Amino acid sequence: MSQDNDRHDPSRRTFLATAAVAASVAVIGLRPRSAHAAGAALPHLTENANPLAKSFGYEPSAKAVNRTKFPSYKPGERCGLCQFFKGTPGETSGYAGCAIYPGYSVDAQGWCASFNARS
Ligand code: SF4
Repeated sequence: MSQDNDRHDPSRRTFLATAAVAASVAVIGLRPRSAHAAGAALPHLTENANPLAKSFGYEPSAKAVNRTKFPSYKPGERCGLCQFFKGTPGETSGYAGCAIYPGYSVDAQGWCASFNARS
C-alpha cells in the first residue's frame, strides 16, 4: 500500500529525492579538510624554487630558521599557525597552499618571514 502511495504521490517522491541529494552533499561537504587541503598537491616550496621564498628565508622546518638573519622568528611559529596557510588551521603535518606563494605548497611545520599568526 505505501509503495502505491510513493508511486502516485509526486510530492513525496520529490521530497525523498531531494533529501537523498541533500544528504549526499552534506556528507561530501563534511569531509575532513586536511584530506584535501587547498593546494596540497602543488609543488613543495623551496628557497631555490622561488626568489621571494629565499628573501623571506622559507624553511620547510621552522627549526632550521636562521635566527641571526631572521630575528623576528619566535619558537613555536610555523606555517600551520599562519593566517596565510590554506590548510586546516593548527595543522601539524602535511602540505597546503600559501597565499604568499601561489603555485606552491608549504609544509605545516615550515616558516618564513611573512609569518602572521592567525587571530
Ligand atoms: S606566509 Fe605563513 S604559511 Fe606562508 S610560508 Fe610564510 S609562514 Fe608559512
